[in-house]
Amino acid sequence: MLDTDKITKLRKAPVPPALHLIDGKARAASDDATLPVISPLDGRELTTMARGTASDGEAAIAAARSAFDDGRWSGLAPSARKKILLKWADLIEAHALELAVLGVRNNGTEIGMALKAEPLSAAATIRYYAEAIDKIYGEIAPTAPGTLGLVHREPVGVVGAIVPWNFPLMIGAWKLGPALAAGNTVVLKPAETASLTLRRIADLALEAGMPAGVFNVVLGEGAVVGEAISLSMAVDVIVFTGSGPVGRRLMENAAKSNLKRVYLELGGKSPNIVFADAPDLDEAVKVSANGIFRNSGQVCIAGSRLLVQREIHDAFVQKLQAFSEKMIVGDPLDPATQAGAINSARQLEQNLSFVEQARSGGRQVIGGQRLLEETGGYFMQPTIVTGVEASDPLAQHEVFGPVLAVIPFDTEAEAIAIANGTDYGLAAAVWTRDLSRAHRMIAAIRAGVVHVNTYGGSDLSVPLGGVKQSGNGHDKSLHAFDKYLDLKTAWIKL
Ligand code: NAD
Repeated sequence: MLDTDKITKLRKAPVPPALHLIDGKARAASDDATLPVISPLDGRELTTMARGTASDGEAAIAAARSAFDDGRWSGLAPSARKKILLKWADLIEAHALELAVLGVRNNGTEIGMALKAEPLSAAATIRYYAEAIDKIYGEIAPTAPGTLGLVHREPVGVVGAIVPWNFPLMIGAWKLGPALAAGNTVVLKPAETASLTLRRIADLALEAGMPAGVFNVVLGEGAVVGEAISLSMAVDVIVFTGSGPVGRRLMENAAKSNLKRVYLELGGKSPNIVFADAPDLDEAVKVSANGIFRNSGQVCIAGSRLLVQREIHDAFVQKLQAFSEKMIVGDPLDPATQAGAINSARQLEQNLSFVEQARSGGRQVIGGQRLLEETGGYFMQPTIVTGVEASDPLAQHEVFGPVLAVIPFDTEAEAIAIANGTDYGLAAAVWTRDLSRAHRMIAAIRAGVVHVNTYGGSDLSVPLGGVKQSGNGHDKSLHAFDKYLDLKTAWIKL
């Protein structure tokens, strides 16, 4: 149960200007420049943050490099790192509501979801990797007598983590948890429109006893700070969640500099496929609507293409419309709200222009309007677009907003062709009673995750990652350690 009195108090609390955290110290930008932090709830300035320069990025990288090279973190016993990380997770949990409200004021996610998906999920993630790190062994290879082959697992070094604005703490923790548990040091660059909570948990890491320089945060623009990180000769690996064009740029910069490894978690245009034999159509309607409209569609795995078998298409769309028209859109700090704010004016404009393009191309639009403009905030109706062709821009490009493209299909083969007919491959779902069909679809769909008779449920124990242009590498699960641990062979003649 959310404490509404406390939320009311926290929503009015002044937010101090955010500074970088470099080598354990809060620092302004090298030229003292700042950026306004605009709240999507009312379009007003919430606070300011340091507008990082390339030299700020380099200072943070230098701090992380020294902290790695002198072994102040990687040289600790894994159980000692674990103790600090567990304390950090406890502190995040103890500040959960404060962090959640601050995050909502910064990025607009509805509070119920934000509390669970942000601080509480971040704390759980950090705990998961802390608990795992003293249970990971090296290997003794099955070599010929007279020789000994040992396989060590070593931290990679300095990790540059660049993350987006939709779930900054959750996605940040997916990188910070395994990277730090494994003994690496980190320079984190949060998104311009969602930096405040990540910056706050960096203070909590220091409070938990993490040595200075191990976890650094540089605020500011991607094109400046992110460039400095990706071009650095002292960063060993980049882990990134965000858009395709930036991911591509990071790979180019790695190639131009030190060939650092680049792991990308990118966008999606995920197909949610409902066959006529779905076990419970009402459940499918509810879960499908939530799978695209919660957090106003600002979810990487959002089921943004609804493929419906033709014989149930009209009935399904009708139910979906009825459900979505009842969804409560608005103040994300009201616990009753089901879809909060769009993150920025720019994102709202982009969402509306996708809808306009579909409308002028002759597609039928249900919803599609900006809402609550009088508040100054950025809100939008859950929007369903029908009559969409698989080749339409709306069926090919990620909107990252509450806009659902509905495409009818007749056969299983046709559904597979449409599902696989984009550059993306992040998530998918299949609704059917037929177990064999479910398995055929799982095998045929190119995606990092295929849900069956649900959409979006998950847990830390399973990996998340895309195929095709949705990325490479995985967050979550023990597999995430592969990005942060190098293999080193020792070959010994006995
Ligand atoms: P974005 O790519 O615009 O920004 C992501 C981060 O990259 C931000 O911190 C930004 O400042 C930084 N950046 C921008 N330009 C840069 C540059 N030249 N060099 C280095 N860094 C730079 O993405 P966004 O708008 O913040 O997030 C939305 C995107 O993220 C969507 O495409 C969404 O699908 C994707 N996403 C993917 C996942 C996943 O797990 N696959 C999860 C969440 C979001």
